[in-house]
Amino acid sequence: MELPRFHRLRGAYYRLEGSRCRGCGAGQFPPRRVCPGCRSGDLETHRFSGRGTVYSATRVTQAPRGYAALAPYTVALVRLEEGPLVTAQLADGGDQLPAAGSPVEMVTRKVRDAEEHGLIVYGYKFRMRPAAETTSIAKEPAP
Ligand code: ZN
Repeated sequence: MELPRFHRLRGAYYRLEGSRCRGCGAGQFPPRRVCPGCRSGDLETHRFSGRGTVYSATRVTQAPRGYAALAPYTVALVRLEEGPLVTAQLADGGDQLPAAGSPVEMVTRKVRDAEEHGLIVYGYKFRMRPAAETTSIAKEPAP
């Protein structure tokens, strides 16, 4: 990625910032200027929770330039709990492919090696989230 482009998208890469339509409520990631659902241009910046589930995943063994030192790694299509699909590397995953529907959460990690501009790029990845955390809301004592 070009450095100016990374600078412009740093909110998206560090904080998982996208947009949300004030018209229909749909969330978008990366951020859009026009809602793909209702064509409204009335969008606001929205920081996603970072929680979601694996939609699909694949193992990358032949990595593109800038990612060679990280290979092999797993790339997943993650369905955020607010709706959008995000493609990201999985962190700390070992070499097991996660099952569809597995709960994941966003973490900030190094996403590619230093290149000609000498910048090591950090950004979002996802890691497996213990299923128990998804039911923590049910732990309140009964009245
Ligand atoms: Zn909309």
